[in-house]
Amino acid sequence: MSEPRRIVIVGAGLSGLAAAHRFQELSVERQVPLDIVLVESGPRAGGAVGTIREQGYLVDTGADSFLTNKPGAVSLCRRLGIEDRLIPTDTKYRGALVLYEGRPVPVPDGFQLLSPTALWPMVTTPLLSPWGKLRLFAEYFVPPAKNLIDESLASFVRRRLGAEALDRLVQPLVGGIYTSDPETLSLAATIPRFLEMEQRHGSLIRAALADRKKPSAESSDRTSSGARYGLFAGLKGGLQDLVDALTTSVSANCAIRLETRVTSLKPTGTGWRLGLSTGEWWDADGVLLTLPTHAASELVDDFDKPLAGLLSEIDYASSAIVVTGHKLANVRHPLNAFGLVIPERERRKILAVSFSSRKFPDRAPEGCVLLRTFVGGALHPEAMLQTDEEMIATVREELAKTLGVTGEPDFAKVCRYVRAMPQYTLGHLDRVAAIEAGVKPYRGLELAGTGYRGVGVPDAIEQAERAAERVFEGS
Ligand SMILES: Cc1cc2nc3c(=O)[nH]c(=O)nc-3n(C[C@H](O)[C@H](O)[C@H](O)COP(=O)(O)OP(=O)(O)OC[C@H]3O[C@@H](n4cnc5c(N)ncnc54)[C@H](O)[C@@H]3O)c2cc1C
Repeated sequence: MSEPRRIVIVGAGLSGLAAAHRFQELSVERQVPLDIVLVESGPRAGGAVGTIREQGYLVDTGADSFLTNKPGAVSLCRRLGIEDRLIPTDTKYRGALVLYEGRPVPVPDGFQLLSPTALWPMVTTPLLSPWGKLRLFAEYFVPPAKNLIDESLASFVRRRLGAEALDRLVQPLVGGIYTSDPETLSLAATIPRFLEMEQRHGSLIRAALADRKKPSAESSDRTSSGARYGLFAGLKGGLQDLVDALTTSVSANCAIRLETRVTSLKPTGTGWRLGLSTGEWWDADGVLLTLPTHAASELVDDFDKPLAGLLSEIDYASSAIVVTGHKLANVRHPLNAFGLVIPERERRKILAVSFSSRKFPDRAPEGCVLLRTFVGGALHPEAMLQTDEEMIATVREELAKTLGVTGEPDFAKVCRYVRAMPQYTLGHLDRVAAIEAGVKPYRGLELAGTGYRGVGVPDAIEQAERAAERVFEGS
């Protein structure tokens, strides 16, 4: 028997774990023995995904749910045998609130990120002025863009729906998800489906009307406002369930080295040599970097400066989630939604609040509510300079002003994500194409992670699995 091929995966976030799992599947399917090692600089696997228990609350500290209409996550849960742990979002409070002149107001039913899918709620909403509403309905007649260049999300929305819809609805909704500045975000790279809707149907409203004619199983979730919450799922024990299932599944055939940073990487002619923070040197036939692009850039810099330069051009924003548990008796607002998003024009110090135990009811003890408040992002990097105590104090003040939350919280915890959220700014797709072309000549080296073609959990899984397949075929 030949020696097993040695594969090193750098980074044990969801991407690294999903890649290890895919290598394991391929090894069994093709009867090719592999020696797989997963190297993680942090003290635990999971990266930006994790769940903790705190005084009877079940808290997702990073991602808390994922899209089910993209196959990546659901298919993986199925293959791992944890499909029965998938839970839908509660139907009772589906929908979002947006702050308007200091008050939380419902996002009109059917308004989904950039697209009004129901017209009457847009007529009756107090969020837009009569002119703003007329401008929004005129979207039906706005011709699609002809000479398509990479357009910013803000420019697209201003062009199609008008400035009011951008400032009062789209900016806070997008900011709440991507922690981004819509003026610099590439629509084609971030949410291409709206461009496709424009090109295919001539307008977003026409696309929504066409969608209504489809049988409900084929159409997108029509009832939610904000995100399409009907398409999201969580896991009974939080997203840590997925991390645990992956770790258990891969650990039979894959060593996981925690608290070990890969500090250098070099091609040897026949494979790769990695230097570790422990002083060790490892040789590998295949290497998969599942890192933020700035971390991948540092390693690639050793042997390809132009490629490292391209990787470092991808911007990342830092943000924090301040998680707090409260007695419902201490909250004046009924919290009759999944969360509150805050437009820039309201000049507040938080980006959004997710009412976690409204989305997934068993996340808080009886009579209590779990809130996750988002701070920082591309538009407020200065917020990250606060100490944990200062950030908790800011959040408590803002929760009091916006939702009438008073009294001592049952607990408060700050979860920081430094340079963790990639920003797909204008030119992103060209940059990624150049990176992909730059990596291609290196046999046995692949890149995965959310810096390239999709930031969500299913995207991370899908990109990692495809990259694992390329390493398997190529190394
Ligand atoms: C605050 C926040 C909320 C989110 N919410 C959602 C959500 O609700 N739904 C959704 O679909 N997506 C969400 N996402 C995105 C989702 O979390 C990501 O898609 C996913 O976690 C990315 O996993 P990853 O493995 O690619 O990256 P990461 O989780 O960042 O993992 C990379 C790992 O590499 C390690 N590492 C870095 N450098 C080295 C090195 N040199 N050597 C060894 N190890 C190294 C890091 O320690 C880290 O563990 C959210 C992201 C953030 C930041």
